[in-house]
Amino acid sequence: MKSVPAGGFQTSVPIVIVGAGAAGLCAALAAHEAGAEIVVLERDPIPRGSTALSAGLIPAAGTRFQKAAGISDDPAIFAADLKRKAHDTADPAIVDLVARQAGPTVEWLADRHGFPFSIVHDFDYPGHSARRMHGLPSRSGVELIDRLRQAADEYEIPLVVNAAVSTLYADADRVVRGVEITRPDGTGDALGCEALILACNGYGGAAGFVTKHIPDMRHAWYFGHPGNRGDAVLWGEQLGAELLHMSGHQGHGSVAHPHGILITWAVIMEGGFQVNVRGERFSDESLGYSEQAGVVLAQPDGIAFDIFDERIAAVARQFADFRQAEALGAVVEARTLALLAERLNLPAAALAQSFAETEESKRSGKPDRFGRNFTAAVRWEPPFKAVKVTGALFHTQGGLAVDGSARVLDTAGKPLPNIFAAGGAAVGVSGPHANGYLSGNGLLTATVLGRVAGESAAAFVTEGAQASA
Ligand SMILES: Cc1cc2nc3c(=O)[nH]c(=O)nc-3n(C[C@H](O)[C@H](O)[C@H](O)COP(=O)(O)OP(=O)(O)OC[C@H]3O[C@@H](n4cnc5c(N)ncnc54)[C@H](O)[C@@H]3O)c2cc1C
Repeated sequence: MKSVPAGGFQTSVPIVIVGAGAAGLCAALAAHEAGAEIVVLERDPIPRGSTALSAGLIPAAGTRFQKAAGISDDPAIFAADLKRKAHDTADPAIVDLVARQAGPTVEWLADRHGFPFSIVHDFDYPGHSARRMHGLPSRSGVELIDRLRQAADEYEIPLVVNAAVSTLYADADRVVRGVEITRPDGTGDALGCEALILACNGYGGAAGFVTKHIPDMRHAWYFGHPGNRGDAVLWGEQLGAELLHMSGHQGHGSVAHPHGILITWAVIMEGGFQVNVRGERFSDESLGYSEQAGVVLAQPDGIAFDIFDERIAAVARQFADFRQAEALGAVVEARTLALLAERLNLPAAALAQSFAETEESKRSGKPDRFGRNFTAAVRWEPPFKAVKVTGALFHTQGGLAVDGSARVLDTAGKPLPNIFAAGGAAVGVSGPHANGYLSGNGLLTATVLGRVAGESAAAFVTEGAQASA
């Protein structure tokens, strides 16, 4: 943190946004629509972020897309799902806000910016009581971020790349007056602002932060964007902001090993299961993929195998990642389970026993010994499929405490004068544990709080301008 330079800033802009992921670009679009001038600063040469690594799925309730698909849902049911998954540890006001605003945000992107969303209608995500994942045709985050950037281009919003914000300029009253920008060649610049939106995600890319706050994941593969180095929490802390749920995170128990490709949890939710290197099942996989990261990592060699069949693979093929995994040979296939075991180097008898357990649950209609109920699953047909997977850390869910206007709060619960935060920079709605993460919580707070932060910052600078007129 630096003091304001003696001569002030040569260049200033009303709103500076740090980070051009989903949160930063939604904030930029919303602030622009509210009539504010903004500049988005992005460290990378091309905006990508963790947003590009995701499947680009945004959960939202009561949308016209759901109605068209005959799905009955509403924000109150969604909020209840979020609270239940996080064991009531997340701020209920923020949970209600994002559950209420997710539908309007998805429809805003669709109607105002032409995003061709559709519902993932052919499988259930764990913990969601309705089918409410909205995705783009490729079901990839690259498409989401590219469309967001294109929308920002159409508004001619200045987006400066290769511009890492290295520190903030703040005065003694904790008012942020500007930011220092460092370019890849080491040269620097300063840019003044009236309001700052932190949209530079969390601390998954900062090994020290992970070791301190999520020690269980310190040796895990970090599968998110490496540029997310905890800058928002670092600066926030220096300004007296409250940091919440710093151990919270999204893990994933199904990353192809050694290929490093996300294998959609559809392969599990549609009736697949996981075994370890001994061919044995070890958990109720249907609880959620986030908590399953730690469960898989606790198995011998930190390895598991997703086992499923061709029908399930056909569902998974809607995801670009899964198609890539098949193209790269990560998905192993065999006509019989015995052959599959041989190809995976697994004990055939143990794999057969694991399969028999799941079939017995289907036949009896009773939960298996882990409490998982397979009754909804369809009977399997060959060829059988498998992917060798491991657990990984996807992104952090702890961060800066914010209010319903996305203003950053201090440790006394008061808003800091002119800082807003969204996406992975702000605390999420998953609470302090991996098992509090409901599918889609990442992009939920990135898009919804991003939009709220943009609107709030625009109102803040407009009011300031009116007051001084
Ligand atoms: C493999 C994977 C799959 C996922 N799948 C899903 C999913 O399907 N649905 C879902 O809801 N969530 C998913 N997530 C989580 C989701 O991707 C994130 O929660 C979301 O993208 C966060 O958006 P963001 O804008 O906050 O951060 P990001 O998209 O990471 O953007 C932050 C940007 O800030 C930039 N930046 C950082 N520091 C600075 C700095 N100092 N100066 C300038 N720029 C800076 C970074 O370069 C980056 O471009 C997934 C995550 C991963 C890793």
